[in-house]
Amino acid sequence: MALDDIYKEVILDHYKNPRNKREMPEATLRCSRNNPLCGDEITVFVLTEGEKVQEVAFLGQGCSISQSSASMMTEAVSGRPLEEVHRLIREFRGMMAGDVDPSEEELGDLVALRGVVKYPIRIKCAVLAWDVLQEALEGGTGEATGARPH
Ligand code: ZN
Repeated sequence: MALDDIYKEVILDHYKNPRNKREMPEATLRCSRNNPLCGDEITVFVLTEGEKVQEVAFLGQGCSISQSSASMMTEAVSGRPLEEVHRLIREFRGMMAGDVDPSEEELGDLVALRGVVKYPIRIKCAVLAWDVLQEALEGGTGEATGARPH
């Protein structure tokens, strides 16, 4: 199987079976944003304890890239010290900007999204969950622009 096909499988798997997709009432931080270009919506829930991110969950809807990126993100950052989470955010953004060669050890399944770099319009989809996570960690709550009836 070609590498691109393996990546596609990983993305589809996270899209169809999202990890940590649930409301987290005990979250200490939460933030919501959408990507009007594609109609993606993501809410991120973060449970912090001291300098550690204990757990991250998300809710959302939208394209496979945005939702699988959120699912992979929750797996990558849960249980890590804040400092490492910020490093992962930088590394992921660097990969999507095409100027960081991602380390599979650090990013895990997320390297599957590197193929998206070829489609500039989809980069926003891939980065959305990470924007929301970063904003949540900085104390923001986002904009309730996705507040339309479902
Ligand atoms: Zn999208």
